[in-house]
Amino acid sequence: MIMDCSKYVGKCECGREHTLETRMVVVEYDAVSRFEQYMDAAGLGDKRRTVVYDSNVYALTKGKHIRADQEIVLPAQGLRSEDILIEEMMTKLEAPEVIVAYGAGTIMDFGRYPAFKLGIPFVAVPTLASSDGFTASICSVIIKGQKKSISMKAPALVVADLDIIQGAPKRLVASGINDILAKYISIVDWKIAAMVAGEDFCPMVCGLAQEALDIMRAAADKYAATGEIDHEAMTMAQMKSGLTMQLWDNSRAASGAEHLMAHLVEMHPPRFEKAEGIHGECVGVGTFLCAKVYHELAEKRPKAKAFEPLNEAWIREKFGDELAPGIIRENEKDVLSTFDPQRIVDLWDEIRALIASIPPADELEELYKAVGSKYLPEHIGIDPALTDEMLPVSAAIRNRLTLVRMLRVLEF
Ligand SMILES: [Zn+2]
Ligand SMILES: [Zn+2]
Repeated sequence: MIMDCSKYVGKCECGREHTLETRMVVVEYDAVSRFEQYMDAAGLGDKRRTVVYDSNVYALTKGKHIRADQEIVLPAQGLRSEDILIEEMMTKLEAPEVIVAYGAGTIMDFGRYPAFKLGIPFVAVPTLASSDGFTASICSVIIKGQKKSISMKAPALVVADLDIIQGAPKRLVASGINDILAKYISIVDWKIAAMVAGEDFCPMVCGLAQEALDIMRAAADKYAATGEIDHEAMTMAQMKSGLTMQLWDNSRAASGAEHLMAHLVEMHPPRFEKAEGIHGECVGVGTFLCAKVYHELAEKRPKAKAFEPLNEAWIREKFGDELAPGIIRENEKDVLSTFDPQRIVDLWDEIRALIASIPPADELEELYKAVGSKYLPEHIGIDPALTDEMLPVSAAIRNRLTLVRMLRVLEF
């Protein structure tokens, strides 16, 4: 399937003018053999190109390499998205006019970061489709020793060859499913925030996230029932979800309270030191927990409570002295203080109706089990005794308005 991205671009009913760096997304079997054709179609065919691989991917895709004016093969051992490593590679670049990154998530950052710095386009040839980062502009990179999510360059063209992608291990397929099923929560969080706090909202961007979710749900159901993996559908779902982040300039549509679980695992605050899992696995745990809690909340009726800033002693206790300053800074301008909590109470019936669109936890559990997904704290090295704390602690990591964050101004 080839997606022409121009239909999402331009003046929108939300009032914004949407732009996309990505012109075309190709998700097809044997796509790499037609790479030149796609480069021409994207207007990039005649540009001087550097193609970047890591040594593992280079060996695994022998016979499927693409023409290059300059080829860089980075040693896979110890390769990570870190400014010093990327900048070191940049000193070797021979004045490219386009950079092609061929590989998994890490190698993409060796394309998007230099392309951004040099002001040239970047092309992605993903060899996995286990997360939605490929079509996004966000670069998750270590800068001066600290992991940062920053906006860099999105690919002008994505060529996903399903012959390569279908070789992915089942664990990554399951993780990819989780990353998209997370939209059950993120979409509801965004709609609630728009409703109660007037947060900016775009029906088109939200609709695209919903489309990614619907495609993935159908593919996951089919996988659960027949064992057959629809790589084309699953990969397309990831690409669409990634585009929402580019169209909206942030991850609002794709990442709500559930995604903060992945941040929690990455940060390893006290008592979560042993937490460990790939992105989609952590997100699955967050999604399952949110689904359960959101449905429980929908059964009750809240009263509003006055806003109070997060207590510094609480932050220090939960995050430890090393992480606490960052969390305090993040919560300085708490989104919870920007609207009257009574709004949540007044709109509770509408919120309940939104929660009703989230599948019940037992339905999700059955699906997660059937596709081999991780969805319980103990699956990612978290003591189940910490379950009640996982949501409030993770919600403090990011100043984003989610229903979980709103619990601080509600009483049930
Ligand atoms: Zn819009
Ligand atoms: Zn994600």
